[in-house]
Parts: sequence; structure tokens; C-alpha cells
Amino acid sequence: MKKNVYEIVTDKIIQQLEKGVIPWRQPWMNGGAVNWKTQKAYRGINAFLLEPGEYATFKQIQEAGGKVKKGASSHIVVFWKWIEKEDPESGETEIVPFLRYYRVFHINTQVEGLESKRDAVTFNHDPIAEADAIYKGYLNAPDFTFTSGQAVYSPTFDRINVPPLRDFEMAEEFYSTLFHEMVHSTGHKKRLARPGVTTQRVAFGDEVYSKEELVAEMGAAMLCGVSGIDNSTIKNSASYIQSWLRSLKEDHRLVVQAAAQAQKASDYILGTPLA
Ligand SMILES: [Zn+2]
Repeated sequence: MKKNVYEIVTDKIIQQLEKGVIPWRQPWMNGGAVNWKTQKAYRGINAFLLEPGEYATFKQIQEAGGKVKKGASSHIVVFWKWIEKEDPESGETEIVPFLRYYRVFHINTQVEGLESKRDAVTFNHDPIAEADAIYKGYLNAPDFTFTSGQAVYSPTFDRINVPPLRDFEMAEEFYSTLFHEMVHSTGHKKRLARPGVTTQRVAFGDEVYSKEELVAEMGAAMLCGVSGIDNSTIKNSASYIQSWLRSLKEDHRLVVQAAAQAQKASDYILGTPLA
């Protein structure tokens, strides 16, 4: 049976989460998914479904004289369309939303003959010394790379990637993002061996996954506090944690446990002797 759009979207989300991509927190500018022709960023669920890069529809590619590569499989972009529907009982019409989608192709990997139109937006920041010291003082640290587009910790390679400082509108957001991934990395089996990091397949929405996100975000907030970063980032963290709390059904026990683990993780990064 052909999959419906909801199933396609759900599958895509699960695939992304299994790759360790957490999309609902992206304070950096460069490297997101945009439409090639308009350079407008895809928003909402689409920002989540598409990997970073520029995308164009088949028609846009044709009009610009480009060509879709043989065998390239398209990505989908979803949107809501409002349609009139007649109620069979009352005979009244109502306007209801329908989820629809169209197909796009990644212009670098799936298309021939289109040039990138992307102008990178960058910001000039001085590093924040206290925060830099925490990052540089992390003993037994994972590898770090600073490439635009994605913040992620890979337990397999024990490697963190965070977009570079110049991609963030606020320097504080860079460090808060870096700290979040650093806290994840403390869960590696050779460090504090937290189940949220050592478990091979963690499914979206399950308790282990949600709790690890809480640990990372609380730990990042603690490290921001230690380095004296102003609380605008802490506010973002708080709302992020709020959204997880809902998914955890406001289970306060989990939050207390996560806070204790976040403290351990921060201590590990700061080199504070563990009790
Ligand atoms: Zn995370």
C-alpha cells in the first residue's frame, strides 16, 4: 500500500532522530535548508525533514536550465492546504486543513547545472574568555569540528560538530550549543557511561532519549552559569526544557534525576573532583 503523507513524515522524523539530529533548537544562521530560487528558509516541520542545503522543485530546475541527476530520489516539502468540505449530515460547508506535499531536489548532490546562490550571513564576535576556558579545559575530551549547518555529538566517532562562532547572532548561543553537545559527550562509555548515550537505538519520545536531552540542556545551562553567560540563553534553555517536560508528562522524578546527572556531567567537564 502506498504510504500517506503522515507516514512519510513520521518515518522521516524517526530517521533523523536515529541519526542524532535534534532539530527543534537551531540558533545559528548558516547551513539550514532553503529554497534555491527564493533563498527563503524552510520552516516548521520542513526545516526538520530536510538536511542543510539548497533545494529546488523540478520546475525551478527546468526553468533555470538545470537537470535532475539520473536516479536522484526527491525530498518532500509539506504544507497545509485549506479546502472546503461539506458536512454530509448538516449540509453545511466548513474549511478544513489538508496536509499536502511537493517534491524538491538538493542542488549540490542531486542536480546538474545549478549554482549555489547562498550568501553566508556571518557575525563578528570576540570569544567569551570564561566560556572558552571551559571548552579548552575539558580533559579527556572528544574531537571537535566546527562546520556550518549542524550541532551534533556522535558517540560512534566520539566527535562533536558545532557551527562556528561566526554563524551565531549571539556569541552566548554558540557556547550554549557547544556546551549542550559537550554534556552529551560525557555520556560516552569511556566517561560517565550514561544510558542515553551508550544505548544503541534510542527511539524518539522514549524515556531514555527524553531524559538525555534534559541532561544535556540542564548541563549546558549550568555551564553557562559557571561562565557568567547572561541569562538570555538560559531562558531559551528553560523553554526547551519545558517542551521536554510536556513529553515526559511532567514527571518530576525524571527531572530531579536528570538534574543530578547534569551536575555530574558539568563537574566532569570542569574537572571538579567527583564525590
Ligand atoms: Zn541534544
